[in-house]
Parts: sequence; structure tokens; C-alpha cells
Amino acid sequence: MRTVDEHRAAVAALLKPTPIETRPLAEALGLVLAEELRAAVSLPPFDNSAMDGYAVRAADVADATEAAPVRLPVTTDIPAGRTDHPTLAPGTAHRIMTGAPMPDGADAIVQVEHTDGGPPGGEVRIDRAVAPGQHLRRAGEDVSAGELVLPAGVDLGAARIGLAAAVGVAEVRVHRPARVLVLSTGSELVPPGKPLRHGQIYESNGVMLASAAREAGAVVEQLRFVPDDVPEFLAVLGERLGPGHEDGPVDLVLTSGGVSAGAYEVVKDALAKRGVEFIRVAMQPGGPQGAGRLTRLAGPASVKTQTADYPAVVTLPGNPVSSWVSFEVFVRPALRAAMGHPDSARPVVWASLGEELRSPVGKRQFRRGTYDPSSNTVRTVGGPGSHLLSALARANCLLILPEETERHEVGNRVEVWLL
Ligand code: AMP
Ligand code: MG
Repeated sequence: MRTVDEHRAAVAALLKPTPIETRPLAEALGLVLAEELRAAVSLPPFDNSAMDGYAVRAADVADATEAAPVRLPVTTDIPAGRTDHPTLAPGTAHRIMTGAPMPDGADAIVQVEHTDGGPPGGEVRIDRAVAPGQHLRRAGEDVSAGELVLPAGVDLGAARIGLAAAVGVAEVRVHRPARVLVLSTGSELVPPGKPLRHGQIYESNGVMLASAAREAGAVVEQLRFVPDDVPEFLAVLGERLGPGHEDGPVDLVLTSGGVSAGAYEVVKDALAKRGVEFIRVAMQPGGPQGAGRLTRLAGPASVKTQTADYPAVVTLPGNPVSSWVSFEVFVRPALRAAMGHPDSARPVVWASLGEELRSPVGKRQFRRGTYDPSSNTVRTVGGPGSHLLSALARANCLLILPEETERHEVGNRVEVWLL
């Protein structure tokens, strides 16, 4: 029997770093930057107005008050986007908008609210003095040209993508998303939307695992699920991975079901001699697991893909909660690490246990829970049963009960992964 950590390491070792590619910035959300970004321009690139109002020389309005306003001729209008270099003559004002370039000779902005809004060609009444530099945004105040704005290894969220665009970046070098195939097995399975007969259930792991892999940042293809039939299972894999069917690289094949100790363990039967090792992991749920590289499909046909490597295979158990927990524990961190993510694990907190619990000695138990940040308390939702999908859907965390302890008392500190 493997420990959880041993199997985690085995799965992580299967997933190599994904190659680096160039992408338009707009297609880089959630990906990890592979090369640092330096600013081609300063931010702001030029001195500009922080307000709608009037560009002036502060000295010209130094005595302005509401009781004794100063009147200045408005000699031109500077909307945002004006690209020439107007010059402000002493004793005059330019009407100016937020983000418009400061005219030469001006050193402050009077907000429009402190004026009568006088038009270009006319006169403006100014009711308030301003200090030199007021309401002015200086070139380079935010970023200097040449400065490092984003180091390699950060993930690209909305704000970082915005910053990259602001310094003129159109394309970025990123770790490409991992490509994942999902294949469910089970003769009892029926696609949602079709009528169920007695003994049948709806196929839910496929779309759940595909969604989990997408949430982790992978690109996913969900293959049509198969009954517990080895030739059909291999045929579906062969349609995607066999010679002549290489529709792009595959980093990982994820299967569901057919790996435990029953009589019709299709995944085990099909893949045990094709490069995948089937073992038991000391955990609950999710004991039966398998991992390896798919070296062969039907007959002698090799499945070497365009990655010039055999795709990694992780075979997850069929019980929905086991499948999902196994994905969280083994697959998600490995996938994210392969895509270069600095935070491949879920955020961990240590919380106070809100109820008494028992867990089997010798196994690490992953219970579904609700974490309350205001009291730093965690409670379980639903029992330990690995078929209790509705409780999983209500959970906001996983609660980890270690191998060596059977009794967990109220108030004990327990490890919690926030989902
Ligand atoms: P298995 O691991 O194939 O023995 O399946 C264990 C349990 O999970 C059985 O009750 C199956 O019916 C159920 N199961 C397996 N695959 C799926 C699936 N894709 N969707 C929903 N339930 C499944
Ligand atoms: Mg099955």
C-alpha cells in the first residue's frame, strides 16, 4: 500500500513541465508567465491631467478665492488624445480633460468644479488657488521605461494582464495549458438527458473531472464514455491516440472507474499490461488508484504522440466523491505544477474542529467540510461515504484527518484545504 504522499509524488513525476509558447495577451488569462516583462514605456508615458478642468500657472491663480475670483482667457482646448504640444502663455488657461497631456508652461490643474466652466475662446472664472503640481500625474510615476513589471513565474490574472497591456505588450511567453483527455467507464452509465432503466445511473464523473481539470487551467477533451469492455475502451483511446489520429499533444489521460477489486475492472484489465501500475493508497476515499504512461494500445501499435512522449495516465476510482477527491489530491497539484503555477496547492488553513470525528487508523481521511472563517471553525458535511455527491457539492473545503489518529475531539486543530 502506498502512502498519499508517495502516490502524489508518483503522479507529479509523470507530468513534465508543459512547453513554453507565445500567445496574444488576450488568450493568456490564468496562464503562467515564462519570461519576465519589462516596460517599453513609462506609465504614465507623459505628464497629464488627473482632473477635468483648466491647466494654469499656479502663480497666476495664487490669489483666487470665491470672493475675489481670477479671470483668465481660455486659449485652447486639450481633450484626451491630443498629440501636439501646445504651450500655455502666462496669464492664460487651457481647458483640459482627465488623461490629456499637460501643455508646456502649465504647472497645475484647477478642477472644473472650482470654476464657472468658461469655454475655449472665452474666459474662465477661477474661484480657488492651486499649488504647483496639483492634480498632475507625472510621467513615470507608476512605472519607468525599462523597469521589470512582471517577473517570470507569476500567474496572469486580470490586473497583471491589464498592466502588461498598459506597457505596450501584445504577446506573452507562457507555459501552455496542459492537455487532458477524460474517459469514463461503466456499463451502468447513461448520458444525462436520456431515460434511465432500473440498474442504470447517469454518467457524472466525466463532466465533473473535465470541469475540475478546466478549473485547474487545463484544456480538456471529454471522450465518449465506454461500457466495461476492454476492446471498446482501447478503441476509444485509439481513436484519439492511435497512429493516424494524433490530434495534437496529450499530456494526461484521466480515466474514471474500473480500477478496484471487482470482476469487471475494465481500466485495470486494459492498462495493467500497457504501462500503468495499479496500487492501493492509504486514504479514504480513493483507495484504488493507478498511474503510469500509456506505452501501447491494441496490438503492437505505439501511442507516441506529438509530444514525442507517451501520455501520462492517471486512473481514478469510479465513486464520484473518490474520483473528485483523488483529482484534488493527486492530479490538480501535478497539473498546476506542470503549467508552472507558483501556487499548485489549495490554500491551507488550520482550523478548530467543530464536532467530534473518528477516522480509520493507517489511512488519511479526506472529509468534505464547511469552513467558517469568522470563527476559524470547520465542520463536516455528509458522512464519509464516497457516493455522497450532494454533500460534496455543498462543501467549501476538505478536512484532512491524519493516518495516525483515530479520535478527533472538538476544538482540535485540523488541516483544511479551501476550495
Ligand atoms: P467502479 O470504480 O467502476 O467500480 O465504480 C464505483 C461506483 O462508482 C459504482 O457505484 C459506479 O456505478 C459509480 N460510478 C462509476 N463511474 C461513474 C461515473 N462515470 N459517473 C457516476 N458514477 C460512476
Ligand atoms: Mg465501473
